[in-house]
Amino acid sequence: MDLLQRTAHQLHEMLVKKEISASEITAAVYRRIEEVEDKVKSFLTITREHAEARARQVDKKIAAGEPVGPLAGIPVAVKDNMCTEGIRTTCASKILYNFVPPYTATAVARMNAADMVMVGKTNMDEFAMGSSTENSGFHLTHNPWDLERVPGGSSGGSAAAVAAGEAVVSLGSDTGGSIRQPASFCGVVGMKPTYGGVSRYGLVAYASSLDQIGPFTKDVTDMAHMLNVICGHDPMDSTSANVQHPDFTKFLINDIKGIKIGVPREYMADGIDPLVKERIKEAIKKLTELGAYVEETSLPHTDYAMPAYYLIATAEASSNLARYDGVRYGLRVEDARDVVDMFMRSRSQGFGEEVKRRIMLGTYSLSAGYYDAYYLKALKVRTLIKQDFDKAFEKYDVLLSPTSPSTAFKIGEMVHDPMQMYLQDVCTIPVNLAGIPALSIPCGLVNHLPVGLQLMGKAFAEGTLLRVAYTLEQNTEFTRLQPVIGGA
Ligand code: GLN
Repeated sequence: MDLLQRTAHQLHEMLVKKEISASEITAAVYRRIEEVEDKVKSFLTITREHAEARARQVDKKIAAGEPVGPLAGIPVAVKDNMCTEGIRTTCASKILYNFVPPYTATAVARMNAADMVMVGKTNMDEFAMGSSTENSGFHLTHNPWDLERVPGGSSGGSAAAVAAGEAVVSLGSDTGGSIRQPASFCGVVGMKPTYGGVSRYGLVAYASSLDQIGPFTKDVTDMAHMLNVICGHDPMDSTSANVQHPDFTKFLINDIKGIKIGVPREYMADGIDPLVKERIKEAIKKLTELGAYVEETSLPHTDYAMPAYYLIATAEASSNLARYDGVRYGLRVEDARDVVDMFMRSRSQGFGEEVKRRIMLGTYSLSAGYYDAYYLKALKVRTLIKQDFDKAFEKYDVLLSPTSPSTAFKIGEMVHDPMQMYLQDVCTIPVNLAGIPALSIPCGLVNHLPVGLQLMGKAFAEGTLLRVAYTLEQNTEFTRLQPVIGGA
C-alpha cells in the first residue's frame, strides 16, 4: 500500500516500531504534493521548511526513547482561516493577502503540542463563505475524484488535501456545513464538534455563534484521535465550554445493538438526488442489520433553517468584517484622497463579490426598522429549530440524513446562482443553528463520486456519533475507497 494511503493510526504504528521516521513521512507528503498539487490545488501556502524542522524534532524524541502521542509526526493541513504565528494567513481573501499573524490559533497550538507536523495552509471560500471553494480570492481547488468538479466548501482545500494524499489529516471550519459537505464530496470523514467544544481563539471569525473548528480524516479512528487533541477548554475563548471531554477512542466500539436512530423525513425530501437517497437507504439497512433501531421522524421547522441561517450568518459577518478597513492590517490602497476614500476603496478592492453581498445583506437586516422584522425573527426561529432537535433526542440517540443533496457538482455550474449554492447546505445548516455535533462519513458512490452520510447527536455526544460511524465503517468498505487523481 502506498504510504500516503495509510491512516494516521497505521503510520503511528510504523513510527513507534521504527519502520519509518517522521522525516520520511514528511518527505513522502511533499513528493505527493509535487506530483498532484498542480492538478488539485489544495494549498494556498506550503510550509515545507517548517514541516521538515518539526519532523526532525519528532524523530529526535523517538530516538531518545521519549514517549510520543498517537498523532506525533503525522502531517496535517490547516485551513487558511486559522492563525499561524509567522506564517501567512489569508482566509483566501485579497484583503488579507499579506497578513502574517503574531500568534497561533489554539486548535493549531494543541496540534503542535501533540507533535503533529503542519505541511501547509489550505484553500477555501473567501472568509469561509461558500460551498465550492470557487469563492477563493486566489484560485480554484479541484475534486481529486474528478478534476472538473468542485471539492465542496468552504473547507474545500482541507478535504481535497486528505483525499489526494497531500496530508494525512486536516483541519477545517464549519459554520453551516463547511466541513461536512466537502468531506462528503471528497469521500473522507469530517466532523463539526459541539459549539464550544473546540476553541475558536485564532479562527478568523465569519459568524461567531455558528463557527466551529473540526477535523477531516480518512477513518473514524483517526477522527477520535484528532478530537482528543483539539477539544478542550480555552480561557482565551469566552464561548469555549468548560467541560471534561472523554477519551474519544473509548467510543471506537463495533457494536450498535439497541442504538435508536431517527431519520427526519424533511432531510429525505424531493430536493435530494434519488441516487444519493439510495445509498443512504442502503446504509440504513446495514445499520438495522447490525442491531440499531431505525425509524422515520420529523424535525418540523427544518424549512425555516435556511432563511434563518442566512440572516444570522450575514448579520454576524457584517459586524465581524468591519475590522478590515485598511488601517490595522491587510490590503490598503496607496493613493487614497482621504481616510474615508481609503476605507472604501480598500474594502471594495479587497473583498470579493460574495463577501460584499453578505456584508450588504447583514447590514440591511441589522439596520433600524429591519432588525425586529428580520434579525430578531431569525433568532426566534433558531430557538424553534433547537427545540426540534431537543425533542428528537428525547427519543433517539442519533439522527441520520444525507450530508448533501447531491454528489460533487461541476466547476462553474452554480457560481452565478447564489441561491442554488446556498441550498447545498439544507441538511447541514440546522446543526450549526442548534450548536450540536455532526459528522459526515462516506457511504458509497454514485457515478464514481462519493456520497456522505450525516450523523447528528446531542451536545457533547460526539462519542455516540463515533460509535455508530465506527460500526458502519468496520462492516463496510466505504472509508477505504480512494480516488485515482485525474481519472474516474
Ligand atoms: N455554505 C455555507 C455558507 O456559505 C456554509 C459555510 C461554512 O460552513 N463556512 O455560509
